[in-house]
Amino acid sequence: MTSWPSDTPSPLWMSLSRKRFEAASLKGEAKADVVIIGGGISGLATALELARRGRRVILLEATRVGYGASGRANGQVISALTRHGPDAVRKAWPGERGERFIQLVKGAADQLYDLLERYGIDCDARRNGWLQPAHSPGRAKRVSGLAAQWAVSGAETGALSASQVAERLGTDTYCGGWEHRRGGHINPYAFTVGLARAAASEGVIIYENSPATRLSRKDGSWIVETPQGRVVADKVGLATAAHTGDLWPELRRSIVPVTSYQAATDPLGPLADKILPNDEASSDTRMDLRYFRKTRDGRLVSGGALTFQIGASRRLPAMVGKRLKEMFPALPENPMTSFWSGRIAMTVDRLPRLHRRGDGLCAWIGCNGRGLALACAMAPVLADAIDGVADEELALRPTAPPAVPFHAFVSRFARLILPWYRFKDSREV
Ligand SMILES: Cc1cc2nc3c(=O)[nH]c(=O)nc-3n(C[C@H](O)[C@H](O)[C@H](O)COP(=O)(O)OP(=O)(O)OC[C@H]3O[C@@H](n4cnc5c(N)ncnc54)[C@H](O)[C@@H]3O)c2cc1C
Repeated sequence: MTSWPSDTPSPLWMSLSRKRFEAASLKGEAKADVVIIGGGISGLATALELARRGRRVILLEATRVGYGASGRANGQVISALTRHGPDAVRKAWPGERGERFIQLVKGAADQLYDLLERYGIDCDARRNGWLQPAHSPGRAKRVSGLAAQWAVSGAETGALSASQVAERLGTDTYCGGWEHRRGGHINPYAFTVGLARAAASEGVIIYENSPATRLSRKDGSWIVETPQGRVVADKVGLATAAHTGDLWPELRRSIVPVTSYQAATDPLGPLADKILPNDEASSDTRMDLRYFRKTRDGRLVSGGALTFQIGASRRLPAMVGKRLKEMFPALPENPMTSFWSGRIAMTVDRLPRLHRRGDGLCAWIGCNGRGLALACAMAPVLADAIDGVADEELALRPTAPPAVPFHAFVSRFARLILPWYRFKDSREV
């Protein structure tokens, strides 16, 4: 099996992936039109897009392709933002600016599934829909409004009654909800590996174990240094998400990296047919989110957050297992048998951002936990930004990275907000 740095447990997804990707590290000097930094879905899909436009592209990945959030996610394909529905987007970004972005989000799952089909990516993809069950009557009302807003914007969405949700999930612990019929789920590591293979097939040169350590300008070109080499390029795109370091310090300070934990059961046998019988993906309305989906071999994969990380490998599976057992009492005791974690790039207002500097350095950041489909939709936008398309033509308007107030403190203690989220969730029920 492909080895990863041993600092965190490898995700279950690696053992369920049939394809691998390996690339050499950069040694010596290389030249390109564009260098993309980051070998997750964002970087790979952007590199692929630029190569299809005829650019010579080099991609640098610090460790291994899929090592970041892309290989560790829950795998839910969601064409909706974490917090903002269409009306809230219009309020934040009035006029044409908001409308373009709403259409981008609406089509995000299509972008992911189009890539998957075009390159025949083998990642156990399902497209039976995405569900958001509501944990309180108030939330049920609110999300049925959200479903209506998305439907008016042209999305295939609809509100669900409590009994419909019970039938779709296999548990009657929810009060209603909504569905997005274009969503689904994938093995995110296998998808990322598939994108790397697709990018390479389109001519992208990928180097693994090649962290970009320094960016500088010389004679109108970018010099991107790695421990054993350097790339000379006209343009640079950063796709480093929650792993963003100090290549662009303002970018690092514009997000809060948050650790999210995952846990999975063993294959559940016939019980798997009773949970999510139509094989959708599900994430509920709680602030301390509860979510789950099945794998091709009938495991349940879920996850959660912890206020303190000490003992996470024991405490998180126990907590998630208990929550799932409340919903599905037929599950065995302590059902979660595998565990891993990843890092999510959060923005203060939960909206993603596109950044472009005067010297041509570009980045998009801020998936806020819903970035698999969004990364695929943002790839052509980041490619446009790199290609010099005018600000007003871009589906997400570029801005300067806004600093998160008290960044060092907030980054360190962001998790302390979790008890407050849980209190609010319990009050609503
Ligand atoms: C536990 C978890 C569960 C999630 N579940 C879902 C879900 O179900 N649905 C959903 O839509 N989203 C989910 N997300 C979010 C989703 O995974 C991310 O939005 C998405 O994968 C981000 O992709 P990315 O390419 O932008 O970043 P990443 O995949 O994090 O890739 C960034 C890459 O940049 C590399 N890098 C960093 N610095 C450098 C450097 N200096 N030089 C070279 N390389 C560098 C890193 O090694 C890394 O590989 C989840 C995230 C986590 C962590």
